[in-house]
Amino acid sequence: MTKTHTITLIRGDGIGPEISEAVLHVLEATRAPLSFEEAVVGRAAEKAEGEPLPEKVLDAIRRNRVALKGPVGTPIGKGFASVNVRLRQALGLYANLRPVRNLPSIESRFRNVDLVVVRENTEDLYSGLEHVVVPGVVESLKIITEAASTRIARYAFDYARQNRRRRVTAIHKANIMKLSDGLFLDCFRRVAEAYPDIQADDRIVDAACMRLVMNPESFDILLLENLYGDIVSDLAAGLVGGLGLVPGANLGPEAAIFEAVHGTAPDIAGQDKANPTAMLLSAVLMLRHLELPLAADRVEAALASTLAAGIKTPDVGGTAGTRAFARAIGERLS
Ligand code: ATP
Repeated sequence: MTKTHTITLIRGDGIGPEISEAVLHVLEATRAPLSFEEAVVGRAAEKAEGEPLPEKVLDAIRRNRVALKGPVGTPIGKGFASVNVRLRQALGLYANLRPVRNLPSIESRFRNVDLVVVRENTEDLYSGLEHVVVPGVVESLKIITEAASTRIARYAFDYARQNRRRRVTAIHKANIMKLSDGLFLDCFRRVAEAYPDIQADDRIVDAACMRLVMNPESFDILLLENLYGDIVSDLAAGLVGGLGLVPGANLGPEAAIFEAVHGTAPDIAGQDKANPTAMLLSAVLMLRHLELPLAADRVEAALASTLAAGIKTPDVGGTAGTRAFARAIGERLS
């Protein structure tokens, strides 16, 4: 008998419920041995339980070791701290992996983009350490440690080896932040010595951004601290057709959460317009993580065939709604 994998499912806010429904529909059509256990976080959990990230949700993810997650809203400038960030920190999901590549039949400014963003997920300015020094002056602490910088560099090089990638490029601003980004870069260089088969180079973040929008094909794996990783991921998504397309995985020794790069997209929520591709490709990463490569390949093929038939959501130039798009993918699987 094949083992059934129990996955913690967080549908999330904004477009989260719609794209989650679409992804569940497609996963069901694969008949992969998956079962889902739902968990609620964010504003809804705060209302119901007085806590946006209840301990029982963390326990459920620790138990199942795998979660599939829609975007969860974060109040801007006030209110509770980002649940997305707290989940990564509480579960030690130190590596954020975001493969960015052209999809067949999706028009974009560039062809042949095939890069991977590896983002450090636990520290940097996301430590949430901010305080008012005196009225009118605030300080945000950027935390960079040797341990976390070394661990993420090792992850990037191991990933390169396992996935037959040629090069890892560290992206930083060590010319200005000589201590913090300097430490990140030193750790990268030290780790690189143990991987003579993988090329290692580095670029300053501003120059890297220019090169990304001029010659994105020239990048392979990009290794970044948390904040640069956040910004460069969205930039990279723009290179291949937008935020609706780019998946992500948050990985640690004890658990993994698969989620799209994009946020809650409140501007299109509830209108059957959202593109579920980014979350679906996150589920494909999850299937590979669960060692279900055949199901992963089948979903990718069904997605490619749907796009080739001209069935696309409005963000990538089509007219299909979220539900119709998911149905079309599902039909190609059954
Ligand atoms: P948040 O605060 O949760 O990050 P946001 O609106 O600031 O939300 P995103 O949700 O990432 O940021 O959305 C940025 C833009 O990209 C919006 O105009 C949104 O409509 C569009 N977008 C994001 N994801 C998708 C998607 N899956 N399908 C279609 N459009 C999307």
